[in-house]
Amino acid sequence: MLNSLQQNLEYRRSVMRVLLFLTMVGGLIFAVINFYRGLWSLATIELMFGLFSFFLWRRILLTEHFQLWVMVFLFPLFITMVYAMYIPNSSVSIFVWILTIPVISYLLMGRRQGFLASLFFIICGATVYHYRFLQSDTAVNIADSLNIIFSACLMISLAHVYELNREKNEERLLELAGTDKLTGLANRMKLIETFRLYAEYAKRHKSPLAVVLFDLDYFKNINDQYGHHVGDASLRYIASFIQTKIRKTDLLARFGGEEFALLIVGSEEKDCFKLVDSIRQQLKGSPFIHDNKTIKITVSAGIATYGKDGETLEELLLKSDKRLYAAKDKGRNCVVDINNQ
Ligand code: GH3
Ligand code: MG
Ligand code: MG
Repeated sequence: MLNSLQQNLEYRRSVMRVLLFLTMVGGLIFAVINFYRGLWSLATIELMFGLFSFFLWRRILLTEHFQLWVMVFLFPLFITMVYAMYIPNSSVSIFVWILTIPVISYLLMGRRQGFLASLFFIICGATVYHYRFLQSDTAVNIADSLNIIFSACLMISLAHVYELNREKNEERLLELAGTDKLTGLANRMKLIETFRLYAEYAKRHKSPLAVVLFDLDYFKNINDQYGHHVGDASLRYIASFIQTKIRKTDLLARFGGEEFALLIVGSEEKDCFKLVDSIRQQLKGSPFIHDNKTIKITVSAGIATYGKDGETLEELLLKSDKRLYAAKDKGRNCVVDINNQ
């Protein structure tokens, strides 16, 4: 199921795998180099990081506590970077690593935590730099500080803008993936996802939830008589007509060709019936006008109640579909629920 959290998680898992691979290889190579240079403590930490990355390599793909592992890995990694900068004999070039902190933080922790971690560790790195390379010439010190500040600001801003756009694009894609192209309503995928949330809420709070299936009566005739494009236009008309009659918390979805599904939350059986029947009546009295032609459209509907008729969407759709067909058998343009089947 396409779900924003899962999508984001998959993306972060792959970023983490790249980071783990590089720290695994880099950690071991640097451990050997620093061992020969006599930097024992740094070599030991790097070796441990290489092994820790190896340990996380497979685990990170499966863990349910991904974000926790990210923290457990990143904070010691950044502390190690700052520590390596602090050691008097370490190479000056080690300071280039400071600029990787914003990118890694934003990609793995998102905007808020990414910003805070970047700011904190860049300040630590800059402080260490001044501690190690403080010059007698103030102008050089100022130039050094400005170089660090500007390059850090640039990296943080780029990472921030990138992450903001990525989040927006992901939201837009998810919205499109859950939308029916013709009517702009939710589609079946969005219906399944929303039902899962509503059902959890209904179960926990013992609140009512209903699943309604609408089917247009003799819709084939509209296509045959006026053409498929008019059929399409009338589907759009009905979608927006029903949409205006329901609450914001209810979800109307295009279920299939000329069938619509509606989730009604927080209304008792009687009220659901009243609402659906009043939609039916109002629609009967509000024909679709197209090119000065008046096209009468009626609907039949079946209602199923969460709990009494089942707890899964499949069970409830099966029940509402049965009642919908009972409504068709009764002569169409009517609503059937648990009390009048
Ligand atoms: P009933 O009262 O028994 O429901 O009769 P009906 O003609 O509505 O029933 P049926 O399910 O047999 O026909 C549905 C028709 O809906 C068939 C198909 O041509 C039409 N249809 C399905 N999807 C679309 C669509 O996206 N656009 C248009 N214009 N027509 C569609
Ligand atoms: Mg149908
Ligand atoms: Mg029909």
